[in-house]
Amino acid sequence: MSVGDCIFCKIVSGSIPSHRVLETDSCLAFLDAAPLAPGHCLLIPKQHYTTLEELPEDVAAAVLGQLPALGRAVRAVTGAAGYNVLQNTGRVAGQEVMHVHVHVIPRVAGDGLGYRWHTKSLEDAAAEALRNRIAAALRG
Ligand code: AMP
Ligand code: ZN
Repeated sequence: MSVGDCIFCKIVSGSIPSHRVLETDSCLAFLDAAPLAPGHCLLIPKQHYTTLEELPEDVAAAVLGQLPALGRAVRAVTGAAGYNVLQNTGRVAGQEVMHVHVHVIPRVAGDGLGYRWHTKSLEDAAAEALRNRIAAALRG
């Protein structure tokens, strides 16, 4: 898919409409067109990146730096008791729009939202092996 076909790039350029709630030089937030709850917003970098992993640090910082203010505003306006910040990376994780975005999903008690959280055990030896591998991968 080219950037020209990207629905969120079209929202950034204004060639398709959106309900914008926040705009900076590098990011935009707008109402999700199919909200899970009133006030469900999407926060995106204006520049096209497919996944979170592609974001340069400064762009990631600029986008995520807007989250506290966006969360406060959404909660104040909707009266939600809290919200989930959700970022789907990859189709297997539910990413349908291939322009990186962060969901802010207002929550109220008894709203029926949520996800399965089936925990597994973590043995010390396995944890240590994983820790070593991830730490090494981070060092590059
Ligand atoms: P994801 O499954 O994480 O890729 O989420 C994509 C989100 O984009 C969904 O919640 C859609 O409802 C939302 N969405 C798709 N098209 C539009 C649009 N034109 N305006 C606003 N939200 C949209
Ligand atoms: Zn895009």
